[in-house]
Amino acid sequence: MTDPYIQPTILQINPYVGGEAEILGAKKIIKLSSNEGALGASPNAVKAFKKASSSLHRYPDGNARLLREAIAETHNLDANKIVCGSGSDELISLLCKGFCGPGDEVLHSQYGFLMYPISAMAAGATPKFAEEKNLTADVNSLLSTLTKNTKIIFLANPNNPTGTYLAKDDLLRLYNGIPKHIILVIDAAYAEYVNKKNYTEGNELVEHNNNVIVTRTFSKSHGLGGLRLGWAYGSQYIVDVLNRIRGPFNISSPAQAAGVASILDTTFAKCVHEHNLKWREWTKNELAKIGLKTPESAGNFLLISFDKFPLSNAKEAENFLKTDGILVRAMGSYKLPNCLRVSIGLQEEMHAFIESLSRFLKKN
Ligand SMILES: *Cc1c(COP(=O)(O)O)cnc(C)c1O
Repeated sequence: MTDPYIQPTILQINPYVGGEAEILGAKKIIKLSSNEGALGASPNAVKAFKKASSSLHRYPDGNARLLREAIAETHNLDANKIVCGSGSDELISLLCKGFCGPGDEVLHSQYGFLMYPISAMAAGATPKFAEEKNLTADVNSLLSTLTKNTKIIFLANPNNPTGTYLAKDDLLRLYNGIPKHIILVIDAAYAEYVNKKNYTEGNELVEHNNNVIVTRTFSKSHGLGGLRLGWAYGSQYIVDVLNRIRGPFNISSPAQAAGVASILDTTFAKCVHEHNLKWREWTKNELAKIGLKTPESAGNFLLISFDKFPLSNAKEAENFLKTDGILVRAMGSYKLPNCLRVSIGLQEEMHAFIESLSRFLKKN
């Protein structure tokens, strides 16, 4: 008897493990493990979600028209070049399904988001990575890792879990070095948090080229991770492919309604941005005071290196914090075993985190 055939690259996948959400027996937990927006969802989005509950028996609009129009209006984009996904994870997966297969290569940077290799292998392709410099994607290294089999390059900008980003000049240099038959996917999941003049999400590259798409999410700054909603702005050429292979009703009606309300709530967006800047700076400074280094982060999280503390490795710190009810993320799965990633939460959550981590270091 033989077992059913499994496409070989699928068995090479280590399933994605999300940030922990529970501690057995703990009453109150502080969850700083998944980069979820500190302030939750916009009250308008919650209202719209509740209102949508009166028509749950109806199929959603398969084209998510109102949502795409609201996004287009807010970001000054062409709604026809927007496609929505059940989280940007779905869009990443559809891009692999649509544009690569067995024998093809998918390139990402060394510490790039783990869903890129997973989605590549799910589509039968082979993931490859290009080495980074100073925990930052390196244009020369990416370009020199291209082969005749490369079909897609994924660049998270800013990147998770490092928090670093490529400035506009470097992004353009990367794009200009890529042959036109290779797709550049710019994953701008944290774009709302960036406050740098030399940053661009990359929408201007989409306007004039067939081989670029920018993915975005409602899971981070919009605080709607539980609803599963993402979107992408891409060339007509790419968006047409994604529209052919996505589920016909891939965005639920409550997600569409909440998404519209959230994207239009620019007051909330401003609060989110300012809260993050203030507490990311504060946390970074407090970490420096206790001797912990973090690369400059453009996102809503910090990557903390324990390299200088041979006795207190990141995994031990993660476990210690957990006994205080605080969840952060050790980065072994990203091959950064000496690092912890902490999301920027509320004021009292960041105080509790620093207090607990200081006690851990004193104990060692
Ligand atoms: C969180 C994250 C996403 C995925 O977000 P969803 O929209 O929730 O699927 C995509 N890319 C990066 C870099 C992320 O950190």
